[in-house]
Amino acid sequence: MTAAVEFQSVSRQFGTGPGAVRAVDAVDLTIAEGSFFAMLGPSGSGKTTCLRLISGFEQPSSGTIRIFGQDVSTIPPNRRNVNTVFQDYALFPHMNVRDNVAYGLRVKGMGRAQRHAKAEEMLALVQLPDYGDRKPGQLSGGQRQRVALARALVNEPRVLLLDEPLGALDLKLREAMQDELKALQQRLGITFVFVTHDQHEALSMADSLAVFNQGRIAQIGTPAEIYDRPRTRFVADFVGSSNVLPPAVTQAMGGPARWASLRPEHTRLAATGPLSGTVTALRYLGAATRVVMKTGDTEIAALVPAGHPLPEPGHSTAIAFDPKDLHVMEDE
Ligand code: ATP
Repeated sequence: MTAAVEFQSVSRQFGTGPGAVRAVDAVDLTIAEGSFFAMLGPSGSGKTTCLRLISGFEQPSSGTIRIFGQDVSTIPPNRRNVNTVFQDYALFPHMNVRDNVAYGLRVKGMGRAQRHAKAEEMLALVQLPDYGDRKPGQLSGGQRQRVALARALVNEPRVLLLDEPLGALDLKLREAMQDELKALQQRLGITFVFVTHDQHEALSMADSLAVFNQGRIAQIGTPAEIYDRPRTRFVADFVGSSNVLPPAVTQAMGGPARWASLRPEHTRLAATGPLSGTVTALRYLGAATRVVMKTGDTEIAALVPAGHPLPEPGHSTAIAFDPKDLHVMEDE
């Protein structure tokens, strides 16, 4: 496996003294060539700073970054073979769409006819073949997003960095663009590094992902690994909607006295079971109903598929599950 991007103990600190912020704190990661890699985490966890370190707009305070095996500490952004699609698209409002897309080629000194032909090719790729003469102000949000994508792809980067590229779109368009981006990545075979704070987006699009917390990587793995086997409470809480069980509850459920996670979809309601409590809430979700029961101070959610009998709030119920689905986590 060739690594497109490698971080070796990379840190980036802003400021000095007591007010200093370690935006990125001793991060190690490897992004495989041709993969769709997502960086997921709450606001301020260091995702964008990592992206800027890859692009070269930011320099590490310590550690080494390699792009296709080459140490890039002395390589400026325009010579890294990496392009970025920004959340706000950063299109030039006074230029038409074709010139926006061709901009990078103009900077490189490519002639007008050739760069326009290339720009048209890219606009066809992002399904905007007849939009070259428009100004960005005459486009919808989704169309602007595609132009930003075309403008980055025209440079034929080996790594494409995408910083919350779908953040400004409404849900429906966002889902359509997720499919489109994923298909485009597979077709082109370029390495995509995608920053998002949306766990559904990361889980559904990425080949592998890193979950960030306070400048560090809490876990790195495939979506299934992260979803089914969260390493820590933070990951279980942040990714999906798992039940996070304190040691006493895990023990009452037949596990060790450790923190554990149990997915609501891995539970069933039962008349009796190792753990019983009082139903506090029901939430209808269409294909299933989420039933929350409280035992002591701990709330546990179970998913009851449509068509199955539902308990009433205030009544007692028990939870049953397969012991293999009770996932014990590391201490943080
Ligand atoms: P978001 O999802 O909100 O964009 P993020 O995970 O991308 O968040 P970063 O933008 O990487 O987070 O920021 C990480 C931390 O570093 C934050 O505490 C932020 O305030 C700080 N930070 C980022 N850039 C700078 C800077 N140029 N100067 C000082 N602090 C900075």
